[in-house]
Amino acid sequence: MAQVQAFLEQLHHEFKGISAGKLASYIPELARADPDWFGISMVTLDGRTFEVGDIAQKFTIQSISKVFVYGMALEDYGREKLLKKVGVEPTGDPFNSLIRLDEDSKRPDNPMINAGAIATTGLITGHHPAERLNRMLTMFQNYVGNEVFVDVSTFISERSTGHRNRAMAHLMLNFGMIDQPIEEALDLYFQQCSVLVTCHDLAVMAATLANQGINPVTGQRAVGAEHVRDILSVMYTCGMYNFAGEWAFRVGIPAKSGVSGGILAVVPNQAGIAVFSPLLDHHGNSVRGLRVFEALAQEYGFHLFDLSLGRCKFTSRD
Ligand code: GLU
Repeated sequence: MAQVQAFLEQLHHEFKGISAGKLASYIPELARADPDWFGISMVTLDGRTFEVGDIAQKFTIQSISKVFVYGMALEDYGREKLLKKVGVEPTGDPFNSLIRLDEDSKRPDNPMINAGAIATTGLITGHHPAERLNRMLTMFQNYVGNEVFVDVSTFISERSTGHRNRAMAHLMLNFGMIDQPIEEALDLYFQQCSVLVTCHDLAVMAATLANQGINPVTGQRAVGAEHVRDILSVMYTCGMYNFAGEWAFRVGIPAKSGVSGGILAVVPNQAGIAVFSPLLDHHGNSVRGLRVFEALAQEYGFHLFDLSLGRCKFTSRD
């Protein structure tokens, strides 16, 4: 088995020449990304870090935020109450599909598609918008271990172009799945997507989930251990857009990607891993990111069914 740091450097070298894929452009700010940015970061549960490339470049977290806000809603509402509002069924549809509400319950299918994420964000408790935003930022900070900020220009860019998201919110309001004022829920959703992170931050956030909710670097709890299984379950089944089934088959690590080019993946009890590279395939997943994770899963036996069958070959001491 390859030594971890050397293997990450090898993967970075091998895949940095890939120029397939496109930058997301439907949010104007995202089109300004440098297509060459490429970082890989791994944080193990014993606090070791292995990383290479653009691991300190800031970018907006986008859809990866949905994982953590879902965790917050689980804490605010509890599993059963939340399930009545947002389901856990993968759709096979694109993330921004104009809602496919469950016919009987009128719920959005899952919290990783935009409709389900907006409904989930609309449930975050707090007396006024600033309190809800502050609670959310504190939650992100506990996962990252540092202060986090909203990128104001991305937030404004999303707010002024997010007509599809606004349409979904109106439809859900019509079905009684979210409450007025929907503009506040939408603003909070656009703000959560505009939180600035680095590839290293994402690896620490993933490692926190791998460590049952405790940040392995700071020792601080970010989410109740009782919610981690539910969070990882929706990541596993719904986290990679309409590639989630194939990802589960080929890579098999609970993960979430975002349109800014990040992929965050949780190897339970072992490590958090993140890749950042903004060129996306037609599903919206980072092209280089997919290659890195396929190679890592293969090399170290990180697929959940390799882990559970005792075939994991990873040790951070290497
Ligand atoms: N803010 C983006 C949107 O709502 C997030 C999309 C994504 O990363 O999948 O369209």
